[in-house]
Amino acid sequence: MPKKTVGDVDVKGKRVLVRVDFNVPLDKDNAVSDDTRIREALPTIRYLSGQKARVILISHLGRPKGKVDDRYKMDPVALRLQDLLGRPVRKVDDCIGDAVQAAIGEMRDGDVILLENVRFYAEEEKNDEGFARQLAGLADVFVNDAFGAAHRAHASTEGVADFLPAVAGFLMEKELAVLERILAAPERPFVAILGGAKVSDKIGVIANLLDKVDSLIIGGGMANTFLKARGLDVGKSLLEVDKVDQAKGLIADARAREVKIFLPVDVVAALAAAPDAEPKVVPVNQIPPEWMALDIGPASVEFFTGALKGAKTVFWNGPMGVFEMAPFAGGTENVARALAGMEATTVVGGGDSVAAVKKVGVADKITHISTGGGASLEFLEGKKLPGIEVLQEK
Ligand code: ADP
Ligand code: MG
Repeated sequence: MPKKTVGDVDVKGKRVLVRVDFNVPLDKDNAVSDDTRIREALPTIRYLSGQKARVILISHLGRPKGKVDDRYKMDPVALRLQDLLGRPVRKVDDCIGDAVQAAIGEMRDGDVILLENVRFYAEEEKNDEGFARQLAGLADVFVNDAFGAAHRAHASTEGVADFLPAVAGFLMEKELAVLERILAAPERPFVAILGGAKVSDKIGVIANLLDKVDSLIIGGGMANTFLKARGLDVGKSLLEVDKVDQAKGLIADARAREVKIFLPVDVVAALAAAPDAEPKVVPVNQIPPEWMALDIGPASVEFFTGALKGAKTVFWNGPMGVFEMAPFAGGTENVARALAGMEATTVVGGGDSVAAVKKVGVADKITHISTGGGASLEFLEGKKLPGIEVLQEK
């Protein structure tokens, strides 16, 4: 059921509390080093301001653990937002209380203010009702545009919606439209590529996608558990022994559903996961006992890109190797390039996968890059996300 959006409610002259996901990376001088999440929230902010709403933005930043921590103040975010928006953004040093009430009282229609990091209060992550009430007391309408935080039932994502009319922002709407389409009506063939460190993080996603995809490509550290399930020895590679049976189950399930599973045929192995390690390419059935598989090899890249041929929808989560280190980055980078060159709906979700796509410089050639790592995965697992459940339906 589609959710109401900011476009469906009257906001003129109203105080609108917008939960955004401004949890952006900061560099060592405390400046915003990647402003993607801020840019993605601009359509909602511009729209509200243009409709003469009084726009009150609230977000978390980092993990301050419920205490004021100067490293995680929202000031650098306010500066960048002001630049991008091209209009003044007032920053308030708290997110509830008298100073905030006063600042909001001084707002004029169309004004934008940014409140302080909501996670400076432990009540936020506890979804404390009194705290949620205080947040709600700041505004007339609640807008959730923080897809990246929608899988959390926190006061500013979920609790606050008990006390205010709650609708989706445009970024939330876009994320939901793309991911819902993938689950409900993907253009076929639909191929999912899953990688990353651990199977245990993603078993739910694999299980839910198995009856939706035509093929499943598995790389990265989690491929080792599947290789083991197929009876291969993976040396000292990252392996979840207790998940081998589940991997066997998924392989059998895939076979029953006539979903093809593609596993690496060769790997880039080394004695240690180190940037100066001496890598060598070996077939998957010849990983030496003391070595670890740290990337997919060139034959696997060929095999995987072949499996992508003709696909009309591709979802990718999780790098193919330890892409943070040059000797093991090739598999991930080549998969990113392959995706970028496709005439298909391509969707990438997951913090590290998105970082990889950006590193290769092909982000603008991907149909949709999700701003929510954990949130996109939980959505594709078929879970209900608390921050979305509470929004009004159309
Ligand atoms: P995402 O953030 O895109 O969801 P994950 O967090 O699940 O991805 O996985 C990313 C991590 O997986 C990276 O830090 C990468 O180094 C690690 N990784 C990938 N392949 C391997 C491997 N073969 N061995 C160990 N770690 C791996
Ligand atoms: Mg990650």
